[in-house]
Amino acid sequence: MDFTLTDEQQLIVDTVRVFVERELLPHEDEVERLDEVPPDLAGQIREKAIAAGLYAANMPAELGGGGLDAVSLVLAERELGRASYALQMLVERPSNILQGCNEDQRSRYLIPAIRGERHDCVAMTEPGSGSDVRSMSTTASRDGDDYVINGTKHFISHADVADFVILFAATGTEAGGPKKKITAFLVDEDSPGLTVTRGPECVSNRGYHQCELSFSDCRVPAANLLGEEGRGFDLMSQWLGATRLTVAATSVGRARRVLEAVTKWAATRKQFGQPVGRFQGVGFQLADCATQLEAAELLALRAAAKCDRGTMTDADAAMAKLYASEMLGRVTDTAVQIFGGMGLMSPFPAERWWRDARVERIWDGTSEIQRHIIARSLLRPYGA
Ligand SMILES: Cc1cc2nc3c(=O)[nH]c(=O)nc-3n(C[C@H](O)[C@H](O)[C@H](O)COP(=O)(O)OP(=O)(O)OC[C@H]3O[C@@H](n4cnc5c(N)ncnc54)[C@H](O)[C@@H]3O)c2cc1C
Repeated sequence: MDFTLTDEQQLIVDTVRVFVERELLPHEDEVERLDEVPPDLAGQIREKAIAAGLYAANMPAELGGGGLDAVSLVLAERELGRASYALQMLVERPSNILQGCNEDQRSRYLIPAIRGERHDCVAMTEPGSGSDVRSMSTTASRDGDDYVINGTKHFISHADVADFVILFAATGTEAGGPKKKITAFLVDEDSPGLTVTRGPECVSNRGYHQCELSFSDCRVPAANLLGEEGRGFDLMSQWLGATRLTVAATSVGRARRVLEAVTKWAATRKQFGQPVGRFQGVGFQLADCATQLEAAELLALRAAAKCDRGTMTDADAAMAKLYASEMLGRVTDTAVQIFGGMGLMSPFPAERWWRDARVERIWDGTSEIQRHIIARSLLRPYGA
């Protein structure tokens, strides 16, 4: 097996790395302090990302996107993951689910999203329905040429800067069971009956906000139904596989940055007359971090290679997401320990990395849900 990057892959890595260093990292402290990306700065970064050909890298080239295959995308997202979330997400990858748009929806939503003219957010989670997505209580009822939406979504990332929502709502129940039939819709944020409010402050990812969406008799044209009625869960599953690779890739990139910083520290911080990294108790922690980091990267790249061959399973994506996000948690926690007291001081980035890492084990399916997916795939051949 040859792990050498092709010239094209190396070029992608180098280009993204330079972009991150020049255009994103210098703004991290300001974003952290303000808990937002100033709109002018956000616009400039998006423009530069478009000019550098990095925007919408996940979208098909024939539609104006980067057309990267899954392995190249993991490599690009690994590099983006070095920067704080609010900044790296300005190099937008519109939701893959938008590839389910029909011709008319492409021109109104997908193409403008690829061009950076419009921005999407994805709304699945509700106060009463998190991991158990199919228990959602937001409903969409057909009324003439419209659907009428009622319900509440929460924890919806960057809905405060999005123009439209990829909304999942129940359009009935499956025959003979409590599971809801889920349908996806494209909902403009300025639709009458939709209210978007900022959610509570979150310890992870300052400047990248999550919001509550309240739908009260919100009318959406039937032309905005995405895919087929009742098939939204399939679209969602397809989208989640790709998103879990993104979580794995960005976790690996962030962990690499943290490990580089803490290794440098351990090599230069002296106590008892020698660098602290020379104490076996510290050096072994670095060794474990480095080993787990390499393992997470291989898992992510292997899942991506299978994705490119059309053989990636839900369990492959779940393993990559589970292991990489938990690895990042261990690496950032270990880093704080090795930085000592400085690791907890806010001018120092270690406490930010530690806080930011925490959400990766929760969003896009918690670690427990990933384990559930993996266990199910193991047991299924035995009929259990
Ligand atoms: C900052 C942030 C941003 C987010 N952004 C978005 C977004 O943009 N769009 C969106 O739709 N959602 C978003 N989410 C929601 C996120 O996907 C959910 O928080 C996540 O799926 C878990 O749901 P929950 O928080 O309701 O926890 P719950 O589902 O209530 O789970 C509570 C606990 O029970 C465990 N648990 C639940 N079911 C099982 C089971 N079957 N087996 C074992 N353990 C189980 C969970 O692992 C967890 O530990 C975001 C969340 C956060 C925190």
